[in-house]
Amino acid sequence: MSEYSHILVAVDLTDESRAVANRACALRTAYAAELSCVHVIEPLSLAYGGDIPMDLSTIQDQIQDTAKLHLAEFAETLDIAADHQHLIFGRPESEIDALAHQIDADLIVVGSHGRHGLALLLGSTANGVLHGAPCDVLAVRVGN
Ligand code: AMP
Repeated sequence: MSEYSHILVAVDLTDESRAVANRACALRTAYAAELSCVHVIEPLSLAYGGDIPMDLSTIQDQIQDTAKLHLAEFAETLDIAADHQHLIFGRPESEIDALAHQIDADLIVVGSHGRHGLALLLGSTANGVLHGAPCDVLAVRVGN
């Protein structure tokens, strides 16, 4: 079995993040690896384009502040130091892959809902991460 030295766990900061993070922590212990975490904030302008005719910057700042706090709290419970916590703006799948490349991670851990039917056709974050990943990807089954 290959060894992993730097694991990147992607967390959406929902309740399901705990199961994903627990698996990443178990692998950190098993391989005596470094563990980094990432949360990606999707810019409102990306989600809504020009559909909302108002300045979204204040709301965006509030979202960033809240996410920063939640990520720090969550990372602390995993014993992940501040310099291994990453908060990024953009599309989750491409940013997770880009960060994995940047920090030289050799395993990305993401949650997967094992969707099927139309949801599968539309894709999921785990699928997107897998397609552009520079390293192995572990999809941890969460939810139903
Ligand atoms: P989804 O396909 O969006 O339900 O998300 C499945 C998994 O992708 C989550 O459990 C996370 O591991 C990862 N993920 C989704 N959204 C984000 C995000 N905004 N930031 C970091 N990871 C995410």
